Amino acid sequence: MLKRSIALGLVAACGAVAAFATIAPREDATLPPRSLIVEPLALQAHEVPAPPQYVREEQFQRGDTLAGFLARLGVDDTLISPLARTPALRALRPGAYVRADVLADGTPESLSFLTGRDTLVRIVPDGERFRAVEEQAPLETRVLMKASVIRSSLFAATDAVGIPDSIAMQLADVFGGDIDFYRDLRKGDRFTVVYELYHLGGRPVRAGRLLAAEFVNQGRTIRAVHFGSSYYAPDGRNLRKAFLRAPLEFSRVSSGFGMRKHPIHSGWKAHKGIDYAAPTGTRVRAVGDGVVDFAGVKNGYGNVVILRHNGQYSTVYAHLSRIAVRRGARVAQNDTIGLVGQTGWATGPHLHYEFRLAGQARNPFSIAMPSGLPVPAQSLAAFHAQAEPLVARLDLLANAGVALLE
Ligand SMILES: [Zn+2]
Repeated sequence: MLKRSIALGLVAACGAVAAFATIAPREDATLPPRSLIVEPLALQAHEVPAPPQYVREEQFQRGDTLAGFLARLGVDDTLISPLARTPALRALRPGAYVRADVLADGTPESLSFLTGRDTLVRIVPDGERFRAVEEQAPLETRVLMKASVIRSSLFAATDAVGIPDSIAMQLADVFGGDIDFYRDLRKGDRFTVVYELYHLGGRPVRAGRLLAAEFVNQGRTIRAVHFGSSYYAPDGRNLRKAFLRAPLEFSRVSSGFGMRKHPIHSGWKAHKGIDYAAPTGTRVRAVGDGVVDFAGVKNGYGNVVILRHNGQYSTVYAHLSRIAVRRGARVAQNDTIGLVGQTGWATGPHLHYEFRLAGQARNPFSIAMPSGLPVPAQSLAAFHAQAEPLVARLDLLANAGVALLE
């Protein structure tokens, strides 16, 4: 089993490279700092005694002063203080790359950088001063495919192959109705993701949408394809379920926490609930749409929220450090209802979670009711046209793995 997983991991990595050989290998958004000096004129060196203009690029780093940073960009000393007073530059965040078009004498023609709003800010001379021009950044979308194998946690697996955090979160979200990412993951589980990565000037700037994914969890394969504003199975079934598998938000901080800590109680039957070990302050979310039936203190439960859902279902969330909802309020699936704590009879921070049908404790893992509508009949052709190439990409890795093992 272990051997098989390793082989698949290797094949997955090779498959991704082979399939997207034209894509720049440095696709991670967090790149090491680097400097770049480019002469933009495509003339022969001997024809131009001194290049009239340089393009320089530097990353604004934590601890950088604006003045020191501008000097590093090659801006002439006398222009540094008027430039440093430009409000747009003062809004620069650590990690941002700034491109300077500077004349040979150190006079800046323009400074430009990408904002968190996906706009490009250009600062240009305006008489004695400088002014900022902001425009939509010409981002280019590339599609990447990556695969990995779970060894310890989902984030360890995504980190190992450079999948951005936002894609890991979308993956956990998309399969949140089928997989409890706190309790269901097993060593050897594997997944493939097809996602967008936005580039500016050839450099990756951030991840976009997860377009398709496959997750093999304890031998069960689930596939998802993005279409419209939802995720569907390749046959058009909606992946959204009436209840999420896990009542905790999935995050880098909380993921893997439960794997390190032993559960405080053991077994579902022993005390009619599930305990999720998680750091105090982890967001607790409503597993389904419903109404707050109780929000307050109840002896052993400590701070507890009880939600009433359709069809005589109710859910209980106990030992909270904070309660975020009031009795009678309507909540939607995934809304925050409180934060993990250790109020009541709890020996450590954890969430005690119960799932009830007509007041009787049930194992929620035997209940998987779909709630989202399937792809509408009139959109099926469009859906299949979009889904087929994505599914073909998922097949590519799955088949490559099988072929190599035989
Ligand atoms: Zn418990």
